[in-house]
Amino acid sequence: MFDQLFIDNDFVPPAAGRRFDAVDPATEQRIATLALADAADVDRAVRSAHHAFATWRRTTPTERTRLLLRAAAVIASRADEIARLETLDMGKPLRESQANVARSVRTFEYAAGATDKLEGQSIPVDARSFNFTHLEPVGVSAHITPWNYPFANACRSLPVALAAGCTAVVKPASETCLSTLLLGDVLREAGFPPGVVNIVTGSGAEAGAALARHPLVRSITFTGSVGTGQQVAHAAADHVRPVVLELGGKNPQVVCADADLDAALKETVRGAFTNAGQVCTGISRVLVERPVHDRYVEALHERVQALTVAPGLDNADLGPLVSAAHRQTVADYVRLAREEGARLVCGGQVPPERERGWFYRPTVFDGVRPDMRIAREEVFGPLLVVIPFDTDEQALAISNGVEFGLSAGIFTRDLGRALRFARDVEAGMVWVNEWFQSPVQVPHGGVKHSGIGREQGFAAFANYLQVKDVAIRFA
Ligand code: NAP
Repeated sequence: MFDQLFIDNDFVPPAAGRRFDAVDPATEQRIATLALADAADVDRAVRSAHHAFATWRRTTPTERTRLLLRAAAVIASRADEIARLETLDMGKPLRESQANVARSVRTFEYAAGATDKLEGQSIPVDARSFNFTHLEPVGVSAHITPWNYPFANACRSLPVALAAGCTAVVKPASETCLSTLLLGDVLREAGFPPGVVNIVTGSGAEAGAALARHPLVRSITFTGSVGTGQQVAHAAADHVRPVVLELGGKNPQVVCADADLDAALKETVRGAFTNAGQVCTGISRVLVERPVHDRYVEALHERVQALTVAPGLDNADLGPLVSAAHRQTVADYVRLAREEGARLVCGGQVPPERERGWFYRPTVFDGVRPDMRIAREEVFGPLLVVIPFDTDEQALAISNGVEFGLSAGIFTRDLGRALRFARDVEAGMVWVNEWFQSPVQVPHGGVKHSGIGREQGFAAFANYLQVKDVAIRFA
């Protein structure tokens, strides 16, 4: 199954017969061979989705609800298999993969509940006509996903598109294709008709680009880096297609001196080192009010030093990073931080006991100035910088002083302070006294270079629907 593409409910070989390897980041061992799709394969997948759309768009909301609920049930029944595969392929601790699968079940359930609530409007115009809007599915939707949450990211947009009546082609990141391919098997088992969901594996530059520029694709949901997002947006513009971009972040956690510091600290560690820091919404900058700064850094040092790093199946605090290249990127940023004059608090190295696998110790830098590159650029790894602040205005200016605007948080017992920050911070998601508050029913997305549009929540259905206005003269 893994060395093939999922097209028309079948696992089929790539036309040119090219393959590449899937590697376990904890052992550096090959765990599967994958199909390397080219533009012809992508075209076949898109045409399958286009053909299926003619029938799928005419299914009743109830039929779609039942299928989506069945998919949720099959995912739940195969949760262990999916989670283990995810951990093997991506490296994250098993309990995190299990949580990601549970979240995916929830997204299918949420989407299932929405199919018969996608209502148009009747609009008063004049005494002689009746005017109403109808929401219709746009057609084939493309879903291009990154490697950090392979299953959960595919399941973030796909159920919504299907609920809206769209068909889909999914292109997972090359590092982590396995759980997405398994999703094809799951959806087939759930009873989705051929062509409604297709999955192509292959390089972004070739298969991803072919998908983004395919003329029969009517909507693109892209999650990944800023640079690739810009390329995808260009491709979408060429065909005048809507695009949702879920991109990177450099997310600030503001810790005020009046906060429950122990609770804040717990969230700093969770926010910065979940999934080994490979989280778009994770904490990458912690801004600490000067009077508690030293105490906070000391406590942070103690907790981060105690974190364990081991293969995901061992369920340690951190698994390996996704690839050798990505670990090198993180190591390069650590070197840069030192060169810029930041003070290493802990980490900053490969764990000496881990000779194989792409492990890296969770790392904290103190003495960081907001103008340093390490304080402005997304590292997307287990690297946290601590920046002191003196006034709320300064905390806000530092928070907003980067190109990104994905998530932001403030920890304080002062509601006024929290609300002023929430009002003025440039971010798509603002969290107060807790991190990662983004269940499937609330909007998820960013501002500035963090993206365009929103996934999750009811508003996400608009990504896959177009409004048709109908005017009827009756007198
Ligand atoms: P990436 O390199 O941009 O890749 C994302 C996806 O795009 C992959 O499937 C990739 O395929 C594909 N791709 C590459 N070049 C393409 C092209 N020219 N046309 C179409 N598709 C192309 O990002 P990543 O390194 O996988 O992910 C990390 C980034 O994602 C971080 O910046 C992170 O913050 C962001 N992210 C954002 C969110 C969010 O919700 N905002 C969530 C998760 C991650 P290949 O893998 O085959 O190259």
